[in-house]
Amino acid sequence: MPLFTIAIVGAGPAGYFAAQALHNLQNEERIFAIDMIERLPTPWGLVRSGVAPDHPKIKTVAKVFEKIAADPNFRLFANVEIGSEITVEQLQEKYDAVVIATGSSLGKTLGIPGENLLGSMSAADFVPWYNAHPDFADIQVLLNCDTAVVIGAGNVAMDVARMLALEPSELDTTDTADHAIAALKTSAIRDVYISARRGPEHAAFTSPELRELPKLEHTNVVMNKADVEAAVVRAGAEPEKDVKSNLDAMLLIADSQKSEHERTMHFLFQHTPKEILGSDKVEGIVYSTPEGDVTIKCGLIVTAIGYQAAGIDGVPYENGKVVNTDGRVKDNLYVVGWAKRGPSGVIGTNKSDAAAVVELIVSDLTSPKGSGDISELLTNQVVIDQFAWQKINEAEVAAGEAKSKPRIKLIKREDFQKIAGV
Ligand code: NAP
Repeated sequence: MPLFTIAIVGAGPAGYFAAQALHNLQNEERIFAIDMIERLPTPWGLVRSGVAPDHPKIKTVAKVFEKIAADPNFRLFANVEIGSEITVEQLQEKYDAVVIATGSSLGKTLGIPGENLLGSMSAADFVPWYNAHPDFADIQVLLNCDTAVVIGAGNVAMDVARMLALEPSELDTTDTADHAIAALKTSAIRDVYISARRGPEHAAFTSPELRELPKLEHTNVVMNKADVEAAVVRAGAEPEKDVKSNLDAMLLIADSQKSEHERTMHFLFQHTPKEILGSDKVEGIVYSTPEGDVTIKCGLIVTAIGYQAAGIDGVPYENGKVVNTDGRVKDNLYVVGWAKRGPSGVIGTNKSDAAAVVELIVSDLTSPKGSGDISELLTNQVVIDQFAWQKINEAEVAAGEAKSKPRIKLIKREDFQKIAGV
């Protein structure tokens, strides 16, 4: 039976769902051997380093990933970077198809004065910092101020604002990085502003995320009811379902505001960032609003205004995405997930997205090339394979159990290798 070899670059949700779709299309005429290659020592992508630690249910999708990885024709090569020592072209030569699933890891920038001041950072750095991503453990996060501003009205902005505004001991039973919990416990921040440049009817939050806000046990959430009511009028008699659901959730927030807690999350609408103030570090931000310019004094600004894909040599990029037509890039190169369509949708969106691309891949396949095998290209790399990853996974979960956490994530590459025995 023809055996086709497929390399998937990137072990996040899009990569796993591509592997699953390939698996589902196996029949008596073809089977697939899948090598998944990942730059980090660990798989799971944003499920590990993006999803907010106080949203453990979202992370249960990792069980699906591990089921996919249990297929005998699936191999994991973590801790192996493509683009430097091993090129995309080399993979294309060896494999019947190569699928880029590397997501969007770079934060978009505002392009306003002051953006590069100390204390102004992107969610693309802040989120992996609190999620124990090895590359971000040592970044500087200025928490010695009373006010933080989060720019953007999407779910990432919401995650960031919550992480800054929660009572930090609420994170003790989560898999937040220990360094982040320790830093947040010394944080002086008590007011967190989350700012949208348009009105509530245009916010990119999803309503489950809004609906959990009145349930926060140690944080006040403040939203101006007049802002929401005006948005309801602007949205008209028949708003789209998602818009209506969001506006209903916002009315609920506006109606159930508390003031007894030490920490407060404030929503600002129709606030367009104009300038970040400060000489050697952030001191405030100027917004233009329909009522004129408004300044908010703050010492930390986190932008959560979308992401773009980081480039890999040999892969064409444009506007923050891999250049593609429905997932086809060139020759036997394909792309799935955020690297293909940009940073949109929830984790599950990647399932249908990957399945559609995999159908194209399968329709393009003719006869197998032979033995696609990345092992032949490995020289100095210390590979963490599925077996080694399982040891890491078990060790992290066991370490967490003792402290009532889902896991304690390892951070240093040498620790991963030690636990994995590689
Ligand atoms: P997003 O949903 O696209 O939101 C980006 C926000 O940034 C928008 O409100 C946008 O406003 C704003 N923005 C863009 N450029 C701006 C600028 N120059 N100045 C001010 N604001 C600007 O992106 P995201 O929050 O990064 O999330 C990415 C995807 O991951 C989304 O699909 C999200 O739902 C998903 N996600 C889901 C969860 C979850 O399910 N819990 C958690 C995190 C992320 P405009 O609309 O005005 O452009």
